[in-house]
Amino acid sequence: MTSAPAAAGTGALARYEAVIGIEIHCQLKTASKMFCACDTQIEGAEPNSHCCPVCLGLPGTLPTINKSAVEWVIATGFAIDGEVATTTRWDRKNYFYPDIPKGYQISQYQLPLVANGKLTFDTSEGPFTVRVRRAHLEEDTGRLIHEDRDGRRVSLARRSLIDFDRSGMPLMEIVTEPDIRTAEQARRYAEELRLLMRTIGASDAEMENGQMRVEANVSIRPIGREAFGTRVEVKNMNSMRAVERAIAFEIERQAELIDGGGAVHMETRGWDDPSQSTYHMRPKEEENDYRYFPEPDLPPLTTTPEWLAAIKARLPELPAVRRTRYQTEFGLSGYDASVLVNDLASTALFEGALAAGEGVPAKLLANWVTGEYMRLVKGEESGGSADPVQLAALVKLVADGAISGTNAKEVFAEHFATGRVVAAIVEARGFRQISDAGALGTAVDEVLAANPAAVADYRAGKGAAVGFLVGQVMKATRGQANAAMVQTALRERLAKTE
Ligand SMILES: [Zn+2]
Repeated sequence: MTSAPAAAGTGALARYEAVIGIEIHCQLKTASKMFCACDTQIEGAEPNSHCCPVCLGLPGTLPTINKSAVEWVIATGFAIDGEVATTTRWDRKNYFYPDIPKGYQISQYQLPLVANGKLTFDTSEGPFTVRVRRAHLEEDTGRLIHEDRDGRRVSLARRSLIDFDRSGMPLMEIVTEPDIRTAEQARRYAEELRLLMRTIGASDAEMENGQMRVEANVSIRPIGREAFGTRVEVKNMNSMRAVERAIAFEIERQAELIDGGGAVHMETRGWDDPSQSTYHMRPKEEENDYRYFPEPDLPPLTTTPEWLAAIKARLPELPAVRRTRYQTEFGLSGYDASVLVNDLASTALFEGALAAGEGVPAKLLANWVTGEYMRLVKGEESGGSADPVQLAALVKLVADGAISGTNAKEVFAEHFATGRVVAAIVEARGFRQISDAGALGTAVDEVLAANPAAVADYRAGKGAAVGFLVGQVMKATRGQANAAMVQTALRERLAKTE
């Protein structure tokens, strides 16, 4: 029984340094599979309804290369500032498993499409850069489903089923150098890569449904020692939180093992979310166990400068560039720029509202997106949505003083939940603020006349009485008075009659 580490990672990291490398598999967004014409829309489909002789590995079939899958890997290469190969080759990775009908996987071993990239991201300890060793293309395997007698999915199975719909789906594997030292850096790397994939459109990268799979190679060494310790591969982390916790657990587990006089064994371990611990899955295969050799059914692939230039030109603004631009162009703080850019829906809402409303103050708009919008998305009201044109209109009303901040939040919440347009909600609720000096003056005069005690208090030096009087005016105008103007009008009048 392995005891759960008290404070994940912190104890062990006082004596040991962790060395972590991350391998991420991303399912690429293509219409058809990697080497055949089968449709990739398999979500929710009947098992084995999206396969053909090629992705079933039947004898006599030949693969053909999916051009858009290749382009997504090249685009990723540019996005991580990597080197894109001029010539690349396909290799066979041989192994037997029931979910791999050919008995081998077509992958790229010696000549990956992309090498020597890097990714920089923020952590709680400041910016951190991870070197990316390679990114290559390969095909996915089928899916095994283990069930018990009653059709419940279990690990000790009564029967196992195979769904080949996933067989031959295009996968990109991205491998880092062992640059990562903490569980948090590993999670942040995976989050930044996921954002990058979604931004350039290469993958939806949903971890929950396996479109993005994160594996970590974790070893520890005494602080100050150069040589690496024995590494353990950790799999089955199906959320970003799981990535951080699994690695922190593994660091602590290895430290306890070594401190107790034991040794770390090279193995593959799985993360078990319910028990928040890793468990032994199998001994780790060595690379030469796969007997890689060049794929005889596919020619080497050459990339022309024109083709590469066209792919590069199609890249959208990347997250790192966008964060910097939001700070320099709109005066956002580094934190606000990150919050906005790290969530694609928020970025789209912000950009859309900026484009929709001329003269909408960008900083105020950013506050609305990172504040009210994100609160509603995360809260019980989620399921609603915000229209950029309507948000622009609302922020403009707030900026012009035509509606109070408090009322604006109510308007936005109603718009978010119902989709009603902002102007109609403001009208229906009578929220348009009274900023007319004449109308306000009348209300202020009435309140002063009706509250002689408060006026006397003010004259006796109790400045707080103004707050009470403002409240009375707001009440009389059903919250529609411009509070700043009321404040000014009250002070003017009180000063005069003194
Ligand atoms: Zn197929």
